[in-house]
Amino acid sequence: MSAYDTNNIFAKILRGEIPSHRVYEDDATVAFMDVMPQAEGHVLVLPKTPSRNILDADASTLPSLIGAVQKIAIAAKEAFDADGVTIMQFNEAPAGQSVFHLHFHVIPRRDGVPLKP
Ligand code: C5P
Repeated sequence: MSAYDTNNIFAKILRGEIPSHRVYEDDATVAFMDVMPQAEGHVLVLPKTPSRNILDADASTLPSLIGAVQKIAIAAKEAFDADGVTIMQFNEAPAGQSVFHLHFHVIPRRDGVPLKP
């Protein structure tokens, strides 16, 4: 697996070099709206610590990250009056990852509304 690239786009967003619509932040975690949402309210949740994906993440960072994912999923479901929430996370390009800083997708879902491709 390649090394973490400190110039990936999410690293730049975390450093404030590229704007984002932040909706949540704590000591360890940031969440912002996806610029190409697959459904209304699509949020990305990232650890502040650099890891390429879950395969190289320090296991000690994961409990707080998944706790933030849960908080954001609950808040997004309520904010967007959704019927459910899809949570997705990809590791390496063959698995669908395109930005190589660990992140979870949190996507509110409405009955009968498919995800946009
Ligand atoms: O999991 P994956 O790496 O494929 O997803 C990256 C996500 O980052 C995409 O949903 C894309 O729309 C989003 N993105 C973003 N802001 C950027 C670049 C990508 O929200 N500046």
